[in-house]
Amino acid sequence: MRRQSVETLIAGLDAMHPERPFRVMNVCGGHERSITQAGLRSLLDKHIELIPGPGCPVCICPEEDIAQAIHLALNEQVILLSFGDMLRVPVFSHTEGPRSLLAARSQGADVRPVASPLDAVAIARANVTQQVVFFAAGFETTMAPVAAMVAEGVPDNLTVLLSGRLTWPAVAMLLSNDEQAFDALIAPGHVATIMGSDEWAFVAEQHGLPTAIAGFHGESVLAALQCLLQQRSDNRAQLVNCYPEVVKPQGNTQAQQLLREVMVVSAANWRGIGVVEDSGFTLRPEFATVNARVRFSELTDQSSFTPLAPPAGARCADVVLGRLYPDQCPLFGNECTPRHPIGPCMVSDEGACRIWMSSGMRSVDESKPTPEGV
Ligand code: SF4
Repeated sequence: MRRQSVETLIAGLDAMHPERPFRVMNVCGGHERSITQAGLRSLLDKHIELIPGPGCPVCICPEEDIAQAIHLALNEQVILLSFGDMLRVPVFSHTEGPRSLLAARSQGADVRPVASPLDAVAIARANVTQQVVFFAAGFETTMAPVAAMVAEGVPDNLTVLLSGRLTWPAVAMLLSNDEQAFDALIAPGHVATIMGSDEWAFVAEQHGLPTAIAGFHGESVLAALQCLLQQRSDNRAQLVNCYPEVVKPQGNTQAQQLLREVMVVSAANWRGIGVVEDSGFTLRPEFATVNARVRFSELTDQSSFTPLAPPAGARCADVVLGRLYPDQCPLFGNECTPRHPIGPCMVSDEGACRIWMSSGMRSVDESKPTPEGV
């Protein structure tokens, strides 16, 4: 696909003159970061809305999984590994004890950030007298290397506390609950790289919504937007891959095979959202020796975990589901900041609240209707 300049793309979008609101959900936190950091919203026609959706794995990681990780970390035999932005995510529960992995570390737990499964294997090999637990939370792009690590075989002292999720079921759930949730979709480029663009065809075929796969630079997002707007103007809906240099219709079949070999898919809880059918990865029984929930079943017992309601005013679930923009949460930039996060969306680099705050964006353009206001 020939790359056009931002100016050309914006001019093209302007020339299409949308006369009524066009609400485009961008699922992926990476897209939200590109959009916000490039200030794309301020360049667009007032009728075009870009609504961040449920594409932040840290934001939707259920509190009971984080509580399990904290509980494991507090065991002195355990080194608990996690991707870095999970460390500060708070849990709200009646259970006594630290409310985040970072708080556990400040109480003496050996909690270490890692960047990849390779780090986890290296740390396990370097600490053979300890039990190393890799708290692996993420979407398909994260799960594929975890599956590769497990399939290859890991040191005896390494187990995985898995909290993996698939993205498309959350979008399907949003649309099955409310067909009007948005008018078009920018589907996640990274996920599609693994799972294939075809996975997103259901949005156009079953729900009649224009859908485009986009890459992560501003021009790619704008090209996807142009494609979506053109579809609406032509009164048609189809899936268009605007990131063909990386994303193939069938995706990375080798990675998918590894995922199938190592994990099964079942219903799973999403923080603030609830159980979503066919959305969670679980290790297959044949990998029970690698499963931290099996090896440490007493420590990962969830029966005593009782979640509390989020703090008054916190609207994290509404932000994750695209019902509110971050600045419509009353705590945004007030009680809740990157330095003192109250909800997970203010912690993760892929959380909409964090992205907006760290990009200096304090409110959506007042001239544009909000997702709730349409
Ligand atoms: S500002 Fe904080 S409390 Fe409000 S939605 Fe964002 S993360 Fe949640």
